[in-house]
Amino acid sequence: TETAPTRRRVLLKLSGEVFGGGSVGVDPATVRGIAEQIAAVRDQVEVSVVVGGGNFFRGAELSKAGMDRARADYMGMLGTVMNCLALQDFLEQAEQPTRVQTAIHMAQVAEPYIPLRAVRHMEKGRVVIFGAGAGMPYFSTDTVCAQRALEVGADMVLMAKSGVDGVYTADPRKDSTAQKLDHLTYGDALRRDIRVMDQTAMTMCNDNNLNMRVFGMEGEGNVTRALLGEELGTLVTP
Ligand code: UDP
Repeated sequence: TETAPTRRRVLLKLSGEVFGGGSVGVDPATVRGIAEQIAAVRDQVEVSVVVGGGNFFRGAELSKAGMDRARADYMGMLGTVMNCLALQDFLEQAEQPTRVQTAIHMAQVAEPYIPLRAVRHMEKGRVVIFGAGAGMPYFSTDTVCAQRALEVGADMVLMAKSGVDGVYTADPRKDSTAQKLDHLTYGDALRRDIRVMDQTAMTMCNDNNLNMRVFGMEGEGNVTRALLGEELGTLVTP
């Protein structure tokens, strides 16, 4: 039976970019830093994490280079699992009990995705990391993030971004007149083609009343601050 959460419950999205520290593969020092920031909110917030895999493979890119799209997408999903194991390792080193649940079964390395068990883990103070996306080609980890957040009853999605500290009116790296927004709606983002996350994911959040905070990874302690509910970056609401 499901008990009402007494603590805040959040879902943190970490894209693959974050794990690679800007290149292919996993940068252990970066992952350690993130893990320590998550471990710091122990006992205060229930945390689940959806992990991307763009630091290894993106299905769409492999498919452009001549691979079958579905098989390339499976490679993308398998890449996310390596990120999950790296994050789990550094969380455990920081004395934060952690479970990985994958959408593709691989019993030696992770539990299967079982939503009620994920909730139970969080209630017991464990961090749950969701890997292998949705287990389905043609999906993205952004969409999975909206879906998992809804299914495990997260209060909010926290999108950690690398190289940018929120949502801007235009790409701040290309347009010097771009302004940072404190708040916007999914409708605004969709109409103005602001790609906070992909459109499927935004539609899912909008239709199911799920708020999201987009924030930059780079500031000192930013992940901890976001997990604790500080108002950094940009709030996106229905
Ligand atoms: N992917 C997929 N189905 C899913 C999630 C991911 O096919 O449910 C594949 C897809 O090829 C994607 C890759 O895994 O390009 C890595 O995920 P994503 O690009 O979302 O990672 P991120 O951009 O967050 O690093």
